[in-house]
Amino acid sequence: MGKVLIIGAGGVGTVVTHKVAQNPEVFTDIMLASRTKSKCDAVATEVKNRYGVEIKTASIDAENVPELVKLLKEFKPELVINVALPYQDLTIMDACLEAGVNYLDTANYEPKDEAHFEYSWQWAYKDRFEKAGLTAILGCGFDPGVTSVFTAYAAKHHFDEIQYLDIVDCNAGDHGKPFATNFNPEINIREVTQRGKYWENGQWVETEPHEIHKPLTYPEIGPKESYLIYHEELESLVKNFPTIKRARFWMTFGEEYLTHLRVIQNIGMARIDEVEFNGQKIVPIQFLKAVLPNPGDLGENYKGWTSIGCRIRGIKDGKEKTYYIYNNCSHEAAYQETGTQGVSYTTGVPAMIGAMMFLQGKWKKPGVFNVEEFDPDPFMEQLNKQGLPWHELVNVDLEL
Ligand code: NDP
Repeated sequence: MGKVLIIGAGGVGTVVTHKVAQNPEVFTDIMLASRTKSKCDAVATEVKNRYGVEIKTASIDAENVPELVKLLKEFKPELVINVALPYQDLTIMDACLEAGVNYLDTANYEPKDEAHFEYSWQWAYKDRFEKAGLTAILGCGFDPGVTSVFTAYAAKHHFDEIQYLDIVDCNAGDHGKPFATNFNPEINIREVTQRGKYWENGQWVETEPHEIHKPLTYPEIGPKESYLIYHEELESLVKNFPTIKRARFWMTFGEEYLTHLRVIQNIGMARIDEVEFNGQKIVPIQFLKAVLPNPGDLGENYKGWTSIGCRIRGIKDGKEKTYYIYNNCSHEAAYQETGTQGVSYTTGVPAMIGAMMFLQGKWKKPGVFNVEEFDPDPFMEQLNKQGLPWHELVNVDLEL
């Protein structure tokens, strides 16, 4: 018996719904709820046509705790898969506690009025989840998520001590649009325009946005300019693997993308505060989202690959060792399978696998945990079966 409530019917929610429907032996009763019910109904119809699986749907404001509690008490899921926006994490966790339901998400909490994310807000729920005997699994997408599990797998099987960790995220796909973001534009632009930050020798080092960059070579793709940015899994990984001396995150951006981003910032369209417009208040970045391409619709013409992985240097049996573990995902294959592009796919598949781990009792313990705190092996096995196969290279030049 596996009864789950998926919250959020965007690109990622669409993939999660497809993937849970593909695994009926684990997920036996599925509901998709989101702000706009018609989007849930469209996904449910598509999934029914493809796999013959019934998906229940509901409309929900995930920032309204009493409304959430009512839905949870009516449907009685074992687990909520939260793939709405990071703004809703805390209200959904509050509702889960009140209704006695377990919780999983793919992005850490971020307040709406401040472009700032960190785990402290959600880690503060640890005691309450523990006392309630409920599990909360944080950050179970690709990055955070698979990159964190890759690190745990490397620590378990390849190293006595991980010393240097570089997470490398390349999107070498082309959607054919002059400018678009691969997931929610508001969240994406807030993330990539902030100051850079990495961990070195026990402290955080800050950089100007996109100040540090270099070309890195990605398997089957080739060299791509890669920029050091701050990414949320660094915070939990340096805490959970204290031998790490330096941890950094690199993401590829094209020249065109960066130019558009600079213009958007310079003309004030990335602002997250309210401005007066024609007698009403609007938030520029939310208005921008309304006119940019919908990330969920990019799939049809998306060509090429994503390549995300971990490049690790450390000690094994007294000797220095290097290790590179990665997945390459094809945008076209993701579209054929789920009707969405590769970035939604690489996030939604791990969220489904995390839910599977919970329902099978493999990732189940009272409290609030990041994914690297669970056994990586059964999750790694499922990545290979569920569409995100991984590859390892040992003692190669990491370029870093
Ligand atoms: P979308 O914007 O496509 O979808 C978000 C969905 O959440 C929409 O259906 C939206 O409803 C719904 N929603 C927003 N606010 C509310 C609310 N108050 N109540 C109920 N539903 C709401 O985003 P994505 O699918 O691209 O991303 C989903 C999540 O995945 C985000 O948190 C993102 O940060 C995370 N992510 C994680 C990654 C990882 O690797 N870990 C990578 C990429 C994304 P409506 O349709 O009405 O707007």
